[in-house]
Amino acid sequence: MKVSQYTLSTQKEMPADAEIASHQLLIRGGFIRKLASGIYTWLPIGLRVLRKIEDIVRQEMNQAGGQELMMPVIQPAELWQESGRWNQYDEGLLLKLKDRHQRDFCFGPTHEEVITEIARNELKSHKQLPVNYYQIHTKFRDETRPRFGVMRAREFIMKDAYSFHADTESLQQTYQLMHDTYTRILDRIGLEYRAVLADTGSIGGSASMEFHVLADSGEDLIAFSSQGDYAANIELAEAVAVQLPEEKPLKIEKIATPGQRTIQNIVQFLNADIRKTVKSLIVIGDNQPLVALIVRGDHTLNTFKAEKIAGVAAPLTMADEDQIQAAIGCPVGSIGPVSLKLPIIADRSAATISNFICGANEDDFHFTNVNWQSDCPEYEIADIRNIEQGDASPDGNGSIQLKRGIEVGHIFQLGEKYSIPMNATVLDENGKAKPMQMGCYGMGVSRLVGAAIEQNHDKSGIIWPISIAPFQVILIPINAHKSVAVTDATSRIYQALLDDGIEVLLDDRDNQRPGVKFADAELIGIPHRFVIGDRGVNKNEIEYTPRSTGETENWPLDEVNSRLAEILQLV
Ligand code: ATP
Ligand code: MG
Repeated sequence: MKVSQYTLSTQKEMPADAEIASHQLLIRGGFIRKLASGIYTWLPIGLRVLRKIEDIVRQEMNQAGGQELMMPVIQPAELWQESGRWNQYDEGLLLKLKDRHQRDFCFGPTHEEVITEIARNELKSHKQLPVNYYQIHTKFRDETRPRFGVMRAREFIMKDAYSFHADTESLQQTYQLMHDTYTRILDRIGLEYRAVLADTGSIGGSASMEFHVLADSGEDLIAFSSQGDYAANIELAEAVAVQLPEEKPLKIEKIATPGQRTIQNIVQFLNADIRKTVKSLIVIGDNQPLVALIVRGDHTLNTFKAEKIAGVAAPLTMADEDQIQAAIGCPVGSIGPVSLKLPIIADRSAATISNFICGANEDDFHFTNVNWQSDCPEYEIADIRNIEQGDASPDGNGSIQLKRGIEVGHIFQLGEKYSIPMNATVLDENGKAKPMQMGCYGMGVSRLVGAAIEQNHDKSGIIWPISIAPFQVILIPINAHKSVAVTDATSRIYQALLDDGIEVLLDDRDNQRPGVKFADAELIGIPHRFVIGDRGVNKNEIEYTPRSTGETENWPLDEVNSRLAEILQLV
């Protein structure tokens, strides 16, 4: 491809709304253009990257026995009413619309309902199972905060696969196969990633795992053991009780703490160990108005875990000042579990402390030397805090490390979550109708473009992994219009590379200085750069620079193809 005939719309200016490197570089490199919030066009060079990822995903899905199909993006409300998700799917994410007959539809954010409708009509007997259908297609989710470019878009490309089985054993086999397939896809793209245990969220089901590309800009925190295999999204990672050295219980004391409302204030005011304080968080209950959640002063509440506890309302909602004043008669910063007339749920670690400090349920007073057994014996224990760096790993192997990750894939064992309400059955070996077991497997194809850049860039631009680079090679002739030798050598090499099936971009722009061409080549991240100049051509040489190291070497002109073939592993 010749740049003079290609839409290469690079720009120097930093886009104002782009907070992270991948978003900035995709705009500056002319890969994407924003049409509306969270809605992007893939320009030709951007689409090449997207297609490369799609190709890898498609090859690996086919290799794993997947059957590609394509479902509509517009879905009728009736299917979502059948599954029970029309009014329940992640409040607000579902973009609903009406047709000219005032019938309700939505733009598909995911396709469990549609595929279950297909499966219940097309599959009749257990003998047809297992099957695994997939598509690579457009999704729409009306995200509350679209940001980071294609990373959290509203319209995006997902590979979504759905498997159907006669029994759970078969489901588990395909789930493992998809786990291995995702591993191969991410290995082939060349990214550093972790597979972690995950929450099932609004998709539902029992087991689930996420695949995270590791990057500091990631929105998720993942916890993994320094020694064992344990790895989990922090949303779900089990936090074990941290034991403080044992102490003899002392007698509770009430002390004046004028104006001291936060844990930091109290720790300073009483010169106390923060690990011997507790925070009391009042949330809305499920079958009672309010519930108190108690965590150690230096720990933080995990909302995902808390809202799953019986008696706590989901989504987790903090009580406001007025509700707290009405129920307890003091402000938020003075609450504690002693004589509190609410159900109390103490975190595992908070429940092990002796002689702790907490609010006295009276403005400007706290208790010290509080002990659960003697001072507030009515409570339940649960895991409700976030795991932290250095905590013991829940599998007993080593300690926990935290890293940021970008969720690029998510696999679920759904079981009968959709097949029962939607009556998707097959006949078993006794001729009896039995609900199918189901799995689903999502991969963020367009998000992967952003994730790959987050892991592979420098101050000059993108450094595409060769597997997904829009072009493998860029040729930059210097002052070609003044030198016949350069023009000739350039067209010879260009043609020879094309003949070898190499994807080459020839920067033949007459109106751009070499400096601009070099900057553009680095910005758009082409892995292999050749510069053809008069001096080199006279010596039968060409300058070769890999984008990843930036170290230039001279190659004999007639060895370009063979040496490149070796680097690209074409031979
Ligand atoms: P997130 O927690 O990031 O919102 P999710 O858990 O809601 O994602 P899934 O329903 O598991 O997403 O969708 C499968 C995959 O689709 C995700 O792993 C992610 O890679 C991709 N994806 C989800 N939402 C978006 C989005 N708004 N923009 C781009 N890709 C997305
Ligand atoms: Mg997910």
